[in-house]
Amino acid sequence: MENVFPHGSRCGILDAETVIQIGICGNTKMKKYAMPVIMLAVFETIAITLWLTKGNLFYLFNFSYIGLSISLGVFLFIKQYKHARRIVQLLVGLYMLVYLGLICRENMQIEGFWYYLFTGVFEAATIHYAVAKIFGPLIFGRGWCGYACWTAMVLDLLPYKVPKQPRKKLEWIRYITFAASLIFVAALFLAKVGNIERIMFWAFIAGNVLYYAAGIMLAYVFKDNRAFCKYICPITVFLKPMSYFSLLRIKCDKEKCISCGKCKRVCPMNVDVTDNSRKRENGTECILCMECVKNCPKSAL
Ligand code: SF4
Ligand code: SF4
Ligand code: SF4
Repeated sequence: MENVFPHGSRCGILDAETVIQIGICGNTKMKKYAMPVIMLAVFETIAITLWLTKGNLFYLFNFSYIGLSISLGVFLFIKQYKHARRIVQLLVGLYMLVYLGLICRENMQIEGFWYYLFTGVFEAATIHYAVAKIFGPLIFGRGWCGYACWTAMVLDLLPYKVPKQPRKKLEWIRYITFAASLIFVAALFLAKVGNIERIMFWAFIAGNVLYYAAGIMLAYVFKDNRAFCKYICPITVFLKPMSYFSLLRIKCDKEKCISCGKCKRVCPMNVDVTDNSRKRENGTECILCMECVKNCPKSAL
Protein backbone atom coordinates (compact mmCIF):
# COMPACT_ATOMS: atom_id res chain seq x y z
CA MET A 1 0.00 0.00 0.00
CA GLU A 2 1.14 3.45 -0.70
CA ASN A 3 2.10 5.64 2.20
CA VAL A 4 0.05 8.77 2.43
CA PHE A 5 0.60 9.89 5.98
CA PRO A 6 3.56 11.29 7.87
CA HIS A 7 6.49 9.11 8.85
CA GLY A 8 5.54 6.56 6.31
CA SER A 9 2.53 5.44 8.27
CA ARG A 10 0.34 3.14 6.31
CA CYS A 11 -2.87 4.35 4.84
CA GLY A 12 -5.15 2.33 7.09
CA ILE A 13 -5.01 4.70 10.03
CA LEU A 14 -8.68 5.26 9.78
CA ASP A 15 -10.69 2.16 10.33
CA ALA A 16 -13.37 2.69 7.77
CA GLU A 17 -13.28 -0.92 6.94
CA THR A 18 -15.50 -0.58 3.96
CA VAL A 19 -15.75 2.15 1.39
CA ILE A 20 -13.43 4.70 2.93
CA GLN A 21 -10.61 2.25 3.46
CA ILE A 22 -10.84 1.22 -0.15
CA GLY A 23 -10.95 4.85 -1.19
CA ILE A 24 -7.84 5.80 0.74
CA CYS A 25 -5.82 2.73 0.07
CA GLY A 26 -5.81 2.47 -3.65
CA ASN A 27 -2.55 1.79 -5.37
CA THR A 28 -2.60 4.63 -7.83
CA LYS A 29 -1.01 7.93 -6.94
CA MET A 30 -4.22 9.91 -7.17
CA LYS A 31 -6.05 7.67 -4.75
CA LYS A 32 -4.15 9.04 -1.82
CA TYR A 33 -6.19 12.18 -2.29
CA ALA A 34 -9.45 10.26 -2.06
CA MET A 35 -10.07 11.31 1.54
CA PRO A 36 -10.31 15.08 0.93
CA VAL A 37 -12.53 14.38 -2.05
CA ILE A 38 -14.77 12.08 0.02
CA MET A 39 -15.02 14.71 2.77
CA LEU A 40 -15.92 17.38 0.25
CA ALA A 41 -18.48 15.10 -1.39
CA VAL A 42 -20.12 14.34 1.97
CA PHE A 43 -20.42 18.03 2.85
CA GLU A 44 -21.56 19.00 -0.64
CA THR A 45 -24.27 16.37 -0.43
CA ILE A 46 -25.44 17.85 2.85
CA ALA A 47 -25.16 21.39 1.43
CA ILE A 48 -27.19 20.67 -1.69
CA THR A 49 -29.77 18.54 0.12
CA LEU A 50 -30.43 21.23 2.72
CA TRP A 51 -30.40 24.00 0.14
CA LEU A 52 -33.03 22.24 -1.95
CA THR A 53 -35.19 20.93 0.89
CA LYS A 54 -35.08 24.11 2.98
CA GLY A 55 -35.07 26.46 -0.02
CA ASN A 56 -32.32 28.49 1.61
CA LEU A 57 -29.11 29.30 -0.22
CA PHE A 58 -27.36 29.83 3.09
CA TYR A 59 -27.06 26.07 3.62
CA LEU A 60 -25.31 25.67 0.31
CA PHE A 61 -22.77 28.32 1.29
CA ASN A 62 -22.42 27.16 4.88
CA PHE A 63 -21.77 23.47 4.33
CA SER A 64 -19.75 24.05 1.17
CA TYR A 65 -17.47 26.37 3.12
CA ILE A 66 -17.08 23.90 5.99
CA GLY A 67 -16.53 21.01 3.59
CA LEU A 68 -13.90 22.95 1.65
CA SER A 69 -12.11 23.93 4.86
CA ILE A 70 -12.01 20.35 6.11
CA SER A 71 -10.94 18.98 2.76
CA LEU A 72 -8.17 21.55 2.60
CA GLY A 73 -7.01 20.46 6.05
CA VAL A 74 -6.98 16.78 5.11
CA PHE A 75 -5.13 17.61 1.92
CA LEU A 76 -2.52 19.61 3.84
CA PHE A 77 -2.19 16.76 6.33
CA ILE A 78 -1.52 14.33 3.52
CA LYS A 79 1.11 16.79 2.30
CA GLN A 80 2.58 16.56 5.82
CA TYR A 81 2.05 20.21 6.60
CA LYS A 82 2.35 20.36 10.37
CA HIS A 83 -0.21 23.12 10.94
CA ALA A 84 -2.92 21.46 8.85
CA ARG A 85 -5.27 20.86 11.76
CA ARG A 86 -4.74 24.36 13.15
CA ILE A 87 -5.72 25.86 9.82
CA VAL A 88 -9.01 23.96 9.77
CA GLN A 89 -9.69 24.91 13.38
CA LEU A 90 -9.24 28.57 12.53
CA LEU A 91 -11.18 28.46 9.26
CA VAL A 92 -14.18 26.67 10.74
CA GLY A 93 -13.96 27.86 14.34
CA LEU A 94 -13.72 31.57 13.51
CA TYR A 95 -16.41 31.28 10.87
CA MET A 96 -18.82 29.77 13.38
CA LEU A 97 -17.91 31.98 16.29
CA VAL A 98 -17.57 35.32 14.52
CA TYR A 99 -19.75 35.05 11.43
CA LEU A 100 -22.57 32.76 12.55
CA GLY A 101 -22.50 33.59 16.25
CA LEU A 102 -21.65 37.28 16.47
CA ILE A 103 -22.63 38.67 13.08
CA CYS A 104 -25.63 36.47 12.23
CA ARG A 105 -26.57 36.23 15.90
CA GLU A 106 -27.19 32.48 15.82
CA ASN A 107 -26.64 30.73 19.11
CA MET A 108 -24.79 27.63 17.96
CA GLN A 109 -24.13 26.46 21.48
CA ILE A 110 -26.17 23.87 23.28
CA GLU A 111 -28.70 26.46 24.51
CA GLY A 112 -29.34 27.38 20.89
CA PHE A 113 -29.93 23.74 20.11
CA TRP A 114 -32.51 23.41 22.92
CA TYR A 115 -34.11 26.67 21.86
CA TYR A 116 -34.69 25.59 18.27
CA LEU A 117 -35.72 22.13 19.42
CA PHE A 118 -38.40 23.57 21.71
CA THR A 119 -39.68 25.88 19.00
CA GLY A 120 -39.90 22.85 16.70
CA VAL A 121 -37.77 24.51 14.05
CA PHE A 122 -35.23 22.44 12.16
CA GLU A 123 -32.88 25.35 11.51
CA ALA A 124 -29.45 26.72 12.45
CA ALA A 125 -28.36 25.11 15.70
CA THR A 126 -30.55 22.01 15.34
CA ILE A 127 -29.10 21.30 11.88
CA HIS A 128 -25.63 22.07 13.18
CA TYR A 129 -26.07 19.63 16.06
CA ALA A 130 -27.61 16.95 13.89
CA VAL A 131 -24.71 17.10 11.42
CA ALA A 132 -21.72 17.80 13.64
CA LYS A 133 -22.62 16.39 17.00
CA ILE A 134 -25.36 13.78 16.86
CA PHE A 135 -25.43 11.84 13.59
CA GLY A 136 -22.16 12.99 12.02
CA PRO A 137 -20.09 11.30 14.76
CA LEU A 138 -21.40 7.97 13.51
CA ILE A 139 -19.17 8.62 10.49
CA PHE A 140 -16.38 10.92 11.63
CA GLY A 141 -16.38 10.38 15.38
CA ARG A 142 -15.29 13.44 17.30
CA GLY A 143 -13.76 15.12 14.28
CA TRP A 144 -15.72 18.17 15.35
CA CYS A 145 -13.62 18.39 18.51
CA GLY A 146 -10.35 18.04 16.67
CA TYR A 147 -10.99 20.32 13.74
CA ALA A 148 -13.91 22.67 14.16
CA CYS A 149 -14.78 23.60 17.73
CA TRP A 150 -14.11 27.26 18.45
CA THR A 151 -13.56 26.59 22.15
CA ALA A 152 -10.83 24.04 21.47
CA MET A 153 -9.45 26.35 18.78
CA VAL A 154 -8.27 28.57 21.65
CA LEU A 155 -7.55 25.85 24.22
CA ASP A 156 -5.21 24.08 21.82
CA LEU A 157 -2.98 27.16 21.82
CA LEU A 158 -2.23 26.75 25.53
CA PRO A 159 1.03 25.12 26.69
CA TYR A 160 -0.24 21.70 27.86
CA LYS A 161 -0.81 19.95 24.55
CA VAL A 162 0.04 16.67 26.21
CA PRO A 163 -1.53 16.24 29.68
CA LYS A 164 1.03 16.53 32.44
CA GLN A 165 -1.16 14.91 35.07
CA PRO A 166 -3.21 11.69 35.18
CA ARG A 167 -6.82 11.95 34.18
CA LYS A 168 -9.20 12.93 36.98
CA LYS A 169 -12.52 11.28 37.76
CA LEU A 170 -14.52 14.43 37.13
CA GLU A 171 -16.47 13.43 34.05
CA TRP A 172 -19.74 13.66 35.99
CA ILE A 173 -19.53 17.47 35.77
CA ARG A 174 -20.51 17.34 32.11
CA TYR A 175 -23.93 15.98 33.05
CA ILE A 176 -24.50 18.95 35.33
CA THR A 177 -23.61 21.49 32.64
CA PHE A 178 -25.75 19.55 30.17
CA ALA A 179 -28.74 19.60 32.54
CA ALA A 180 -28.13 23.27 33.40
CA SER A 181 -28.30 24.30 29.74
CA LEU A 182 -31.53 22.36 29.27
CA ILE A 183 -33.12 23.73 32.43
CA PHE A 184 -32.09 27.28 31.51
CA VAL A 185 -33.85 27.18 28.14
CA ALA A 186 -36.84 25.20 29.43
CA ALA A 187 -37.31 27.78 32.19
CA LEU A 188 -37.40 30.59 29.63
CA PHE A 189 -40.16 28.81 27.76
CA LEU A 190 -42.11 27.82 30.87
CA ALA A 191 -41.93 31.37 32.19
CA LYS A 192 -43.08 32.60 28.77
CA VAL A 193 -40.28 35.12 28.70
CA GLY A 194 -40.51 37.50 25.75
CA ASN A 195 -37.83 38.02 23.12
CA ILE A 196 -36.01 34.77 23.78
CA GLU A 197 -34.00 35.24 20.57
CA ARG A 198 -32.30 38.24 22.11
CA ILE A 199 -31.64 36.31 25.31
CA MET A 200 -30.17 33.51 23.21
CA PHE A 201 -27.74 35.93 21.59
CA TRP A 202 -26.52 37.21 24.93
CA ALA A 203 -26.43 33.67 26.28
CA PHE A 204 -24.13 32.83 23.38
CA ILE A 205 -21.76 35.65 24.35
CA ALA A 206 -21.91 34.91 28.07
CA GLY A 207 -21.60 31.16 27.49
CA ASN A 208 -18.51 31.58 25.36
CA VAL A 209 -16.85 33.92 27.82
CA LEU A 210 -17.59 31.40 30.55
CA TYR A 211 -16.32 28.46 28.49
CA TYR A 212 -13.10 30.21 27.58
CA ALA A 213 -12.50 31.34 31.15
CA ALA A 214 -13.24 27.89 32.60
CA GLY A 215 -11.29 26.13 29.84
CA ILE A 216 -8.18 28.25 30.29
CA MET A 217 -8.33 28.02 34.07
CA LEU A 218 -8.74 24.23 34.02
CA ALA A 219 -5.95 23.84 31.51
CA TYR A 220 -3.54 25.54 33.90
CA VAL A 221 -4.89 23.86 37.04
CA PHE A 222 -4.73 20.34 35.58
CA LYS A 223 -1.84 21.08 33.21
CA ASP A 224 -3.98 19.77 30.38
CA ASN A 225 -5.26 21.89 27.47
CA ARG A 226 -8.22 19.59 26.98
CA ALA A 227 -9.36 19.40 30.63
CA PHE A 228 -12.50 21.37 29.75
CA CYS A 229 -13.34 18.85 27.03
CA LYS A 230 -12.80 15.92 29.38
CA TYR A 231 -14.76 17.12 32.38
CA ILE A 232 -17.04 20.07 31.65
CA CYS A 233 -18.22 20.26 28.05
CA PRO A 234 -21.94 19.36 27.89
CA ILE A 235 -21.77 18.50 24.20
CA THR A 236 -19.81 15.36 24.97
CA VAL A 237 -23.04 13.90 26.30
CA PHE A 238 -24.05 13.61 22.64
CA LEU A 239 -20.62 13.13 21.16
CA LYS A 240 -19.33 10.24 23.23
CA PRO A 241 -22.06 7.64 22.73
CA MET A 242 -22.39 8.42 19.02
CA SER A 243 -18.66 8.34 18.35
CA TYR A 244 -18.49 4.89 19.96
CA PHE A 245 -19.87 3.60 16.65
CA SER A 246 -17.73 5.85 14.47
CA LEU A 247 -16.81 4.56 11.04
CA LEU A 248 -13.54 6.47 11.13
CA ARG A 249 -11.16 5.39 13.85
CA ILE A 250 -7.46 4.89 14.35
CA LYS A 251 -6.38 1.27 14.33
CA CYS A 252 -3.18 -0.36 15.44
CA ASP A 253 -1.28 -2.88 13.38
CA LYS A 254 -0.33 -5.33 16.11
CA GLU A 255 2.38 -6.91 14.01
CA LYS A 256 4.26 -3.64 13.76
CA CYS A 257 3.58 -2.31 17.25
CA ILE A 258 6.44 -2.71 19.72
CA SER A 259 4.39 -1.54 22.72
CA CYS A 260 6.63 1.47 23.31
CA GLY A 261 3.66 3.47 24.63
CA LYS A 262 4.56 6.64 22.76
CA CYS A 263 1.13 6.95 21.16
CA LYS A 264 -0.52 7.12 24.56
CA ARG A 265 2.05 9.56 25.89
CA VAL A 266 1.41 12.07 23.10
CA CYS A 267 -2.37 11.66 23.07
CA PRO A 268 -4.14 14.77 24.39
CA MET A 269 -7.19 12.65 25.29
CA ASN A 270 -5.53 9.66 27.01
CA VAL A 271 -6.79 7.14 24.47
CA ASP A 272 -5.30 3.66 24.46
CA VAL A 273 -5.07 3.50 20.71
CA THR A 274 -3.15 0.20 20.69
CA ASP A 275 -6.35 -1.59 21.70
CA ASN A 276 -8.41 -2.04 18.56
CA SER A 277 -11.65 -2.84 20.32
CA ARG A 278 -14.39 -0.25 20.54
CA LYS A 279 -14.21 -0.52 24.30
CA ARG A 280 -10.63 0.71 24.42
CA GLU A 281 -9.72 3.05 27.25
CA ASN A 282 -11.11 6.52 26.55
CA GLY A 283 -12.00 5.37 23.05
CA THR A 284 -14.88 7.83 22.74
CA GLU A 285 -12.52 10.68 23.58
CA CYS A 286 -10.50 10.40 20.38
CA ILE A 287 -10.59 13.70 18.48
CA LEU A 288 -8.74 12.32 15.44
CA CYS A 289 -5.90 14.79 15.94
CA MET A 290 -3.40 12.26 14.50
CA GLU A 291 -0.68 13.02 17.04
CA CYS A 292 -0.37 9.30 17.78
CA VAL A 293 -0.06 8.50 14.08
CA LYS A 294 2.57 11.14 13.56
CA ASN A 295 4.64 9.98 16.53
CA CYS A 296 4.49 6.21 16.21
CA PRO A 297 8.07 5.09 15.50
CA LYS A 298 6.89 1.94 13.75
CA SER A 299 4.13 3.39 11.60
CA ALA A 300 1.81 0.95 13.29
CA LEU A 301 -1.17 3.31 13.39
S1 SF4 B 1 -15.39 18.50 23.94
FE1 SF4 B 1 -16.64 20.34 23.75
S2 SF4 B 1 -15.23 22.06 23.99
FE2 SF4 B 1 -14.01 20.24 23.60
S3 SF4 B 1 -13.69 20.28 21.43
FE3 SF4 B 1 -15.47 18.99 21.79
S4 SF4 B 1 -17.22 20.38 21.60
FE4 SF4 B 1 -15.40 21.64 21.83
S1 SF4 C 1 3.66 4.34 19.31
FE1 SF4 C 1 3.36 2.78 17.73
S2 SF4 C 1 4.77 1.17 18.28
FE2 SF4 C 1 4.58 2.45 20.09
S3 SF4 C 1 2.92 1.50 21.28
FE3 SF4 C 1 1.97 3.01 19.96
S4 SF4 C 1 1.35 1.92 18.13
FE4 SF4 C 1 2.84 0.63 19.21
S1 SF4 D 1 -3.52 11.17 19.62
FE1 SF4 D 1 -5.27 10.42 20.79
S2 SF4 D 1 -6.93 11.82 20.24
FE2 SF4 D 1 -5.33 12.10 18.73
S3 SF4 D 1 -5.91 10.70 17.09
FE3 SF4 D 1 -4.51 9.59 18.42
S4 SF4 D 1 -5.84 8.50 19.84
FE4 SF4 D 1 -7.07 10.07 18.88
